[in-house]
Amino acid sequence: MRAALYLSAGNVVVDDVPDASLSQPTDAVVRVLRSCVCGSDLWSYRGVINRAERSRLGHEFMGIVEEVGDEVRTLHPGDLVVAPFKWSDNTCPACVDGIQSSCANGGTFGAPGTDGGQGEAVRVPQADGTLVAVPGGVSGVDESLYAALLSTSDVMATGLHGAVMAGVTEGSAVAVIGDGAVGLCAVLGAKAVLGADRIFLMSRHADRAAIGKAFGATDVIAERGDEGIAAVRERTGGLGVRHVVEAVGTPESWAMAVGMAREGGAIGAVGMPHTMPELPLFQPLIHHLSLNLGVAPVRRYLPDLISRIVEGTLDPGPVFDTTLPLEDVAQGYAAMASRESIKVMLK
Ligand SMILES: [Zn+2]
Repeated sequence: MRAALYLSAGNVVVDDVPDASLSQPTDAVVRVLRSCVCGSDLWSYRGVINRAERSRLGHEFMGIVEEVGDEVRTLHPGDLVVAPFKWSDNTCPACVDGIQSSCANGGTFGAPGTDGGQGEAVRVPQADGTLVAVPGGVSGVDESLYAALLSTSDVMATGLHGAVMAGVTEGSAVAVIGDGAVGLCAVLGAKAVLGADRIFLMSRHADRAAIGKAFGATDVIAERGDEGIAAVRERTGGLGVRHVVEAVGTPESWAMAVGMAREGGAIGAVGMPHTMPELPLFQPLIHHLSLNLGVAPVRRYLPDLISRIVEGTLDPGPVFDTTLPLEDVAQGYAAMASRESIKVMLK
C-alpha cells in the first residue's frame, strides 16, 4: 500500500510500504478515507525535532473498518469510523477517569513501529476502546460530512477540550489565543457545544478571522502582547475574561493568557509547542488563576461530537481549506509550513 514517509527536514514522500495487517486479536485494520496534516507534524518537517528516516506520518484519520481481530466485539468490517489521534483501551483507570490520552495501554499513531494516518490503511490497536462508529454508516452519511468528522480526530476535540478545561459554560465570556485549526475549533466548541456568549479570538490573519467569526467569535483582536491584553481588558470593563483557551504554547502566548485572565479566572491550555515555556507562577498565584493543561482525551469527546455532526448541529469542516490526494502530501506539508493553508486534508 501507499503511505507518507518522513525522509528528512522539508522532505516528505509517498512510497510503497507493507500492507496494514492485524497483529493482535484486539486490532482492527481501517481503510483510510480521509486523513490530514497536523501542526505538530511540522515540527520534524521544519527540523525542530528529530524523526527517524522513513518513519510513517500522520495521526488523524477516518475510514472504513476492513478487518477485525478475534477479540474485537463492538466493530465490524464495513463500519464507518473515526479514530482519535491516540489509541486507548477505554477501560484502564486513566480511561475510566476520562483521560484516554494517558491510557496505560495507549499509544500515538505515527509513532515508531506503528502505522500513520497519512496512508491507505492503518492497523488500529485496542480497536474497541479506540474507534468510534459513525451512526448511519457509509450508506447513511454523506461524503460532504467527512471533513467535519475527520476534524474530531484531533483539532475539534482538542479545541473543545481547551474550552472545557477553561471552565466555559452557557453564557461565558472566553478569550481564545491562537487562530490555527485548534484555536478556531476552540471558538466553535465554546459557542456551539458549551454555549459561550462572548468570544474574543486573537487573530491577525483575515482568512482565519473570517472562519473564527463564522464559528462564533464576537470580537477579533489583532493586537498581540501587552496591547492584546489591553484590548481584551478594555472590552471587559477592565476586568479581563474569566475563561482563556491557550492554543499556541509559546512563552508569549502564555504571558497573554495570564495577562488577560480576570481575578479567579481559568486557563485551559492545549497549545503544544516543541519547547514548553517556563511559566512564572507568581502571577497566577496572586491572581487566583486555575491552570488546566493536557493533551486532549479525544476519545472522551468523540461520540458526542460525531452525533452533533451527523445531526447537522456542528460543522467544523471549514478548518480544512485545502484538499489534496495522498500522493501530493509533500505539497500539503509545504502549504502548511508556509502558512498558506490552515489545515490540509488528504483524500
Ligand atoms: Zn486506558
